[in-house]
Amino acid sequence: MDWLTDLLWREGRFLGIEWHAWKIVGWLGNLTFFSRFLVQWYATERHKRVVVPVSFWWLSLVGATLLFAYALFYRRDSVFIFAYAFTWIPYVRNLVVHRRTLASTRRCSRCGQSSGPQASYCWNCGQAIGGS
Ligand SMILES: [Zn+2]
Repeated sequence: MDWLTDLLWREGRFLGIEWHAWKIVGWLGNLTFFSRFLVQWYATERHKRVVVPVSFWWLSLVGATLLFAYALFYRRDSVFIFAYAFTWIPYVRNLVVHRRTLASTRRCSRCGQSSGPQASYCWNCGQAIGGS
């Protein structure tokens, strides 16, 4: 297990990284941003078709914001700053569209399934779902 100790602790530091508040922000951003790929992949495998869950957009937004803060306030690197300066726009837009879709969804009073905003009948049980 010496190899594991050597891998984790280098020069008296965890992973050989000089840890401080901004490094923690940057690594939290990295982990959050990376985790969105696992979440999306899992959702796609589970549904056996390409699925982008709403948590993907939240993880994207939080991860990109942390990395943007790290780039802007700590690294002050124009390339890094530009890479994350505008990515929040599609993330927020997808979250807004998702919220609007949920608000316009019609829920069946008999079986509880959700149908699209144009639906007159439940796709699952055929119950009429009232228009507003
Ligand atoms: Zn129904």
